[in-house]
Amino acid sequence: MKSQCKAILLSMLIMFFAVSAHAGTMSAMKGVVYVYDSGSGLGKVHTYRAPFKAAANTSTIIELADKLIIVDFQLAEPFAREFRAYADSLGKKIDRAYLSHEHPDHWMGSIAFQDVPTYALPEVIDFVKAHGDKIIKKKGKPAKTPNFTGSIKAGTETIGGVSFVFSQYKDSESKNAMVLALPELNTVILQDLLYSGTHFYLGNNTFDSWESSLKKMAGEYKNYNWFIPGHGNPRSSAIVFEENIAYLQKVKEAVAGANDDIKKIQMQMVESFPTYQCEFFLPFSLAIALKQPAK
Ligand SMILES: [Zn+2]
Repeated sequence: MKSQCKAILLSMLIMFFAVSAHAGTMSAMKGVVYVYDSGSGLGKVHTYRAPFKAAANTSTIIELADKLIIVDFQLAEPFAREFRAYADSLGKKIDRAYLSHEHPDHWMGSIAFQDVPTYALPEVIDFVKAHGDKIIKKKGKPAKTPNFTGSIKAGTETIGGVSFVFSQYKDSESKNAMVLALPELNTVILQDLLYSGTHFYLGNNTFDSWESSLKKMAGEYKNYNWFIPGHGNPRSSAIVFEENIAYLQKVKEAVAGANDDIKKIQMQMVESFPTYQCEFFLPFSLAIALKQPAK
């Protein structure tokens, strides 16, 4: 317990140092970068988080001795370009990227990473290939589908002396989602299976199986020190799983008692979680979940 506290304190210090250091050197940055170093000597983890008013999307760089590996690309082009500039400032080759799941807010920014070979779960690649161009057209913003070069499957791969442990979760926040655990770096990248300090996207409407996934992950990753969500700030305590489970339980209660009244559900969620940001996730994703056409 004592050493865990020490590690958390260390990561917090590193985080604050990183934030202030980058705020100083890249003062025009619109996003924030968190850097976590587990002290393994094998690598560091940099997480770029877009502003909360822009959905607080995260993109992560795993910095190994001689290369960089990226997870997710941002939604809007300006943030994707800023994230790319930050990655380039580290002075190492971007070896590859992983896309965590099929939602466009994680891949549209690949417009800034067209030169990077990208991997994802087969179902995610199939979805983006089938629907990506249509989605981009509908959004009407500069965007590209990723440069897919191969697929990933559950299991462990070793890159630069670091184990990359891939898991697949179905019917949770999205239809298919990848979790990437990095045991040597004491880090687990959960993307949209986990939220941190923001309201959730609820459009997939599979709250029970998402809750089961969270319970499974809470056990699986309980000894890790650094948890990276898809939206919001990285966290240094596994308590974030309990927060997410509590949020989903409240969603289920609110939906059950609101007779499809989205405003009523939204009000209850905001009342129950008054400090959470990105309230705008609720009306549009509940409309999708409850199959109500957008007004
Ligand atoms: Zn997302």
